[in-house]
Amino acid sequence: MEKDNVCIDCHNQVDKVAKILKLGQAELDILTIPKRILTFSYPVKLDSGEIRYFTGYRVQFNDARGPTKGGIRFHPDVNLEEIKTLAFLMTLKCTVVNLPYGGAKGGVMIEPKRFSEAEIERISRGYIREIKDFIGPDIDIPAPDVNTDSRIMAWMLDEYEKIKGRHVPGVITGKPVALHGSKAREFSTSMGGAYVLGEMAGALNLKPAKTSVAVQGFGNVGMNIARILHEWGYKVVAVSDSKNGIYNANGLDIKDVIAHKEKTGQVAKFKGAKDISNEELLELKTDVLVPAALENQITKKNANNIKAKLILEMANGPVTTEADDILLKKDIMVVPDILANAGGVVVSYFEWVQNSMNFYWSENEVLDKLKTYMTNAVKDMSKVCGEFNCDMRKALYINSIRKILEAERLRGNLAQPVKSA
Ligand code: GLU
Repeated sequence: MEKDNVCIDCHNQVDKVAKILKLGQAELDILTIPKRILTFSYPVKLDSGEIRYFTGYRVQFNDARGPTKGGIRFHPDVNLEEIKTLAFLMTLKCTVVNLPYGGAKGGVMIEPKRFSEAEIERISRGYIREIKDFIGPDIDIPAPDVNTDSRIMAWMLDEYEKIKGRHVPGVITGKPVALHGSKAREFSTSMGGAYVLGEMAGALNLKPAKTSVAVQGFGNVGMNIARILHEWGYKVVAVSDSKNGIYNANGLDIKDVIAHKEKTGQVAKFKGAKDISNEELLELKTDVLVPAALENQITKKNANNIKAKLILEMANGPVTTEADDILLKKDIMVVPDILANAGGVVVSYFEWVQNSMNFYWSENEVLDKLKTYMTNAVKDMSKVCGEFNCDMRKALYINSIRKILEAERLRGNLAQPVKSA
C-alpha cells in the first residue's frame, strides 16, 4: 500500500500509546496519514514590482469529529513535515477540550519581518486564493498561529468573501472584534493556560505568591500569560523574546516589561533585571517553566539541565519526544500543549458558534465558558491518568485517540471498536 504521506513524527508519538490501546494497522493509518495535504507555490508582487513565488501548505489531518480546525503560521522554517505534525496535534487538541472539530494546520515559508505590511497583505490574500475551494465553516476553518494575527485574519476573510460574493464570517476565526471576532480571543490561549495552571497549582498546593515562573517567548501567547500570571500574583522572575531574556529573582513587573519592549523592541536591558540567554532561561531553578515560543526547545541536549518542577507547554511541541522521557524520569511534571494551549481554539470555537448565531457574547461570558471547558478537560485527563496510572501526555493521547477512532468506527471507517475502550 502507498504510504508516502505518513507523518513520521505522529507515528513516533502514537507509538507511545499503541500498545495500551492495542492499535492495529487500520487505526495506525488513520492516526498517521493526513486526510488531505495541499502544497502550493503562488506568485505575489512585491513593493519593488518584482514577482516572488511563495510556498504554502494546508494539511487537514482528520475530520471524523467535525470540520478541520487550526491556524496558519508564517515562518522561515515552515515545512510539510512540521505542518503535518501540527495538524495531527490540532486533531488531538480539539478532542481534548471536546470541540466538535477535526484538526488542520497551514503555513507559508517566509520570514515575515522582511516584508512590508502591504506585501504581507498580498501574501495572506494569495494564500486564501490557493485554498479557497477546500475551506468553509463546515469544511476547514483556519485561524492565527505563529506570526499571524487578527489583522491578517481580516484580510483573509475579506479575500474569501470577495471570491464567494457573500458574508461568511465562520470561515476563519481569530478575527478582529469589529469584523465578527470574539471578545477575549486575542488573549484566550494564555488565559486558558492560566486556568490550567491554576487547577494544577491547586492540586500541588502551590500558592501564587510563592510560585516562581519563567516564560520563554514574548509574542502574543508568552506576553499575555506573563501578564495574566503577574496580575494573579505569581512571581514571574524571567521572560525572554527571540533575542534575549531577563531575570530578577524577586519578580518582574510585567506591565513595565511590556512598555519597555514596546519602546525598545526587546525585553533585554530592562532596569533592575539581569540579561540572560534563552537557553539560560530554560534552565533556571523555578517552580514553573512556560515555553511559549516555538517547538523543539527542550531536547535530549538540555532536558537533563531543566530544574523547574512543572512545565506548562504553551507553544506547540516545545518538548521533544526524547526530552519528554528524560523529564518523566526526573519527576518533572509536563502539562502537554494539547491541553495547556487549547484555550485559543476553544475561543475560536466560541467565535464560530457566535458567527453562526449572529449573536455575540460579553467578555465575561466568553471567559466563564472558557474556564468551564479548560477545567473539564483537566478533570477528564486526571480520570484517565488514574485509570491507566500514566503521565498527562499519555492520558490525553489515550483519551483523544479513543474518541477519534470511535467517531471513525461509527462512520463505518473502522471495523472494530478500540480494544482497550
Ligand atoms: N493556532 C492555535 C493553536 O495552535 C489556534 C488554532 C485555532 O484557533 O483554530 O491552537
